[in-house]
Amino acid sequence: MNTTVTQNTVRELPELFLQMLDLRVHLWSLFFLVPVGRGQSLQTLPPQECEDVFHWMVDIARHLAVKTTEAQHYRRVALQRAAAEREGLGVEAFDTGPLYRWLSARTAELTAGRTLPERPMRPPIDTNAGRGFAFIDHLGNVYPSGFLPIAVGNVREQSFVEIYRNAPLMRARRDPNGFGGACGVCEFREICGDSRSHAYAVSGDPLAADPTCLYAPAAGHGESATFAPRSRPHEAADEYRRGRSRRSRPRSRRCP
Ligand code: SF4
Repeated sequence: MNTTVTQNTVRELPELFLQMLDLRVHLWSLFFLVPVGRGQSLQTLPPQECEDVFHWMVDIARHLAVKTTEAQHYRRVALQRAAAEREGLGVEAFDTGPLYRWLSARTAELTAGRTLPERPMRPPIDTNAGRGFAFIDHLGNVYPSGFLPIAVGNVREQSFVEIYRNAPLMRARRDPNGFGGACGVCEFREICGDSRSHAYAVSGDPLAADPTCLYAPAAGHGESATFAPRSRPHEAADEYRRGRSRRSRPRSRRCP
């Protein structure tokens, strides 16, 4: 079951959580709105509120299998919470905001007196645009995702395998060392990979930092990283940027 998370729908999540339990859904996917196409008329959550929803998701994940779409930094929060738990710490160890407190209180109110099913938390799966996933439209155009409207090839002219493996944007997208801003130095970049669609929708650069994440990487402050980044070159990102500077920027960011 999919739910689009926007500023207008986020406070419906506790009721929807109960509905998902009643319907015994296999997996609840929270899709964090990307402001492209028709989505431009809706409002995305600011970074702190994304963070609050992620913490709430970690809380409910012991009752229902949940995942995010276009909010890959949920993986970071899930790992941080697991690391804190190993040290005997809970969510109080994190700077959660008013939305987290509201979601938690509303969920407690709705579930009072009810025995909820227990399950092991579903591990966040490392797939992302152009990394285990691609989108092909009805004309055969291939995109890293349906919300990243930069065509990287066409299956009528080229094999999909060739496009997926070798298109410059696909290669650059799998090279987080070449990402801009915080994402390029973040100790979680290999497992997060962040939302390239959000980066493109907001900045016009598919390799820019994800604007929906508030995390300040330890590496960016000269501190030791929680997860040591792998040392890898980032030729793919450089190659994509060189090619992109020769191409004109698209006039509109419509979804394929
Ligand atoms: S800074 Fe970027 S790579 Fe790091 S957790 Fe946030 S979105 Fe992910």
